[in-house]
Amino acid sequence: MSFFHSGYEWLSRMAARATHANDSAEEKTRKSVLTIVAVIIAVLAVFWGSAYVWLGKPLSGAIPLAYAIISFVSIGYYFFTKRFAFFRFSQLLLIFLLPFFLMWSLGGFAHSSVVMVWAFFTPLAAMMFADVAHAAKWLVAFVFFTILSAVIDPNLAKAIIPMNETAIRVFFVLNIGVGFAAIFLVLNFFVRQREQAHQAALLTKDDLERSNRQLQENEATIRQLMLTDDLTGVANRRHLDERLQFELERMQRYGRGFSVIMADLDHFKQVNDTYGHIKGDEVIVTFADVLKSELRSADFVARFGGEEFIVILPETAETAAQLLADRVRASMQAKKIKGFPHSVTASFGVTGVKKEDSLEGVVQRVDRALYQAKESGRNQVVVV
Ligand code: GH3
Ligand code: MG
Ligand code: MG
Repeated sequence: MSFFHSGYEWLSRMAARATHANDSAEEKTRKSVLTIVAVIIAVLAVFWGSAYVWLGKPLSGAIPLAYAIISFVSIGYYFFTKRFAFFRFSQLLLIFLLPFFLMWSLGGFAHSSVVMVWAFFTPLAAMMFADVAHAAKWLVAFVFFTILSAVIDPNLAKAIIPMNETAIRVFFVLNIGVGFAAIFLVLNFFVRQREQAHQAALLTKDDLERSNRQLQENEATIRQLMLTDDLTGVANRRHLDERLQFELERMQRYGRGFSVIMADLDHFKQVNDTYGHIKGDEVIVTFADVLKSELRSADFVARFGGEEFIVILPETAETAAQLLADRVRASMQAKKIKGFPHSVTASFGVTGVKKEDSLEGVVQRVDRALYQAKESGRNQVVVV
């Protein structure tokens, strides 16, 4: 656990150096994977180069050591400049050339052809970090170098000094062991990077959905506020106009008739004058409550202004509207209001809306009905 954990920590630190804050998750993964692979191969090259030198093969050792030096320069240059395209090219070139140089330094195709299998990784890497056209170019270069190796092989084979059998076996086991450990680390890193990117994407999606819901709720609240009368909680004048227009259009299109009631509290100036404006407000609220409780849920109550209300009664004939208005009138008259020795009454105008009516026409007519109710002595309903 601790080996892979610290290994992972180490890779993450390197990945952070290799990437830019503005990189996409995809770019970050590509850059960090190539950097990690480059560092691992360079470290291994130091190890193998030293091993060859120690075994008395300085030429074979010089190749991996030179490789390591050039690769570390390339990685350092990349960390410093962040020029990924150049870094990618230099690393692909290094990884590509190493097996060939190593093979030639070990003494030929026949003796160390297994090493050049690694050169095949360059086209694969080119495809992972760039595209197919890139990979094809590297493959052509591979074929060219293989032919070149075959041509110079007889001369190299003459110069070989065979390595000791045990050393070859140890090298083989080490190669496999270290190679697998490195591949495991890189894969582990790669998968974790992917998971983190996925997790981050999920989080952002959650955030977006949450703020979207919040926006919708805010919008609904704002709309509600825009359409509601502060004092009474019923619809305001703006909402009334909207709804009246809607009902008029619906009637003209589908022939759905409706009626309108206009109500106004009687002698309200006296209420204000006697009990004060605040008490007056309470009476207005009481009246709105009576309207709401006496009417059906389909009916629409709006405060038209001061202590005047308009009610829209969808699909209701004039006669039924008149009965409803009278029920509200009686209910208001019967209402005991706290702090009032007498009841407060209201007058009502009622009218059925006709197909040819305009919004202003309806309001004028129902206002005329209300005026007549006031003229006839208040606390009554008049239909026009
Ligand atoms: P009428 O019976 O003819 O309707 O007599 P009225 O005194 O009620 O006369 P009118 O309807 O013309 O007067 C409305 C009065 O309501 C005028 C104003 O002082 C008062 N008023 C208007 N808006 C408000 C309000 O928001 N709160 C309170 N407390 N009073 C208001
Ligand atoms: Mg009044
Ligand atoms: Mg009034």
